[in-house]
Amino acid sequence: MSGQKIPFNWPHMTGKELYYIAESHFNGALAGDGPFTKRCHKWLEEQTGSAKVLLTHSCTAALEMAALLLNIAPGDEIIMPSYTFVSTANAFVLRGGIPVFVDIREDTLNIDETLIEAAITPRTKAIAVVHYAGVGCEMDAIMDIARRHGLKVVEDAAQGVQATYKGRVLGSIGDLGAYSFHETKNVISGEGGALLVNAKDCIQRAEIIREKGTDRSRFFRGQVDKYTWQEVGSSFLPGELIAAFLWAQLEEAERITGDRLETWHRYHDLLAPLEANGLVRRPIVPVECRHNAHMYYVLLNPETDREKMLAESRRQNIGAVFHYVPLHSSPAGQRYGRVHGEMAMTDRQSARLVRLPLWIGLANAQQDRVVEFLVNAAKSNC
Ligand SMILES: *Cc1c(COP(=O)(O)O)cnc(C)c1O
Repeated sequence: MSGQKIPFNWPHMTGKELYYIAESHFNGALAGDGPFTKRCHKWLEEQTGSAKVLLTHSCTAALEMAALLLNIAPGDEIIMPSYTFVSTANAFVLRGGIPVFVDIREDTLNIDETLIEAAITPRTKAIAVVHYAGVGCEMDAIMDIARRHGLKVVEDAAQGVQATYKGRVLGSIGDLGAYSFHETKNVISGEGGALLVNAKDCIQRAEIIREKGTDRSRFFRGQVDKYTWQEVGSSFLPGELIAAFLWAQLEEAERITGDRLETWHRYHDLLAPLEANGLVRRPIVPVECRHNAHMYYVLLNPETDREKMLAESRRQNIGAVFHYVPLHSSPAGQRYGRVHGEMAMTDRQSARLVRLPLWIGLANAQQDRVVEFLVNAAKSNC
């Protein structure tokens, strides 16, 4: 039996997006770094405590800026998890860097900090961590390793907006952090992102790299009387219409996170019996982490046939999906990266993970249908 479609994601609008876009249109301010961009920058700096936040056209762009800022050169190695989105690795590969994949933790599916040190070589330049599902990595240990070995830390906090680790906002802990405002994330602008420049000595170069390699930002502030080509850069900034849209979302970021958390906790409660029966493993959030309900997933028993289950979810019109094909097993990951140590946990967890629909407006009845599907599928072992 298949009911009405329950999509995996449904972008949430606050209602003010078009109003602010109309304001931009009316003011004739369309290029980047206008009034709405400035408002977003100020809000993000206040919320995160980062020294400088710069909007970009995606998290991918923010990561590419990070690779430029860290002067990644051919042969430089960047330690990162394999269980992540392609952009974490691709941004560094564009500069000739070599991703060195290490395994993930059993509980959070984040990089296993105890394996990082053994992967360090004389070519290692940076550690790129990913806060999966908005749950923070073990940042104290990671920052300590980086400090002792003179490495930079980049946080791929694409999924981590409004989440914290020991009270500190994800993305604001390492030297650089990257946010995503893609339509599938919590706070959105269609495509969009931000670079958090936490290392103060990187601020001036970050502005230059983002503005086509020019010191145009200083020119607009009246600090120089003309702007020129200073170094390698590109156009990484979004136009004002995107910033206007984003502002309508940032204004309500707290409510958005709260609404998502409610749905997340309802899944968590409803699926407790299934976990007690040993049929799935629910997400684990360490006490030092406050997450943002970016995602609800379960880990199936290794014996459960996930592909069969996902086929059944499609038959029932339920948008349940798998997540990353680990980068070390992808064609480009094999060509451009290398593995350090075993990838056993990455292989095991990625093969049994199923993400469930989670969006603002998902009705309790719809959520019940998703849970019922999962319970039946797990019990019948598919
Ligand atoms: C979504 C995501 C990205 C890419 O974000 P874009 O804004 O689409 O470029 C990068 N890394 C992670 C971990 C993500 O989840």
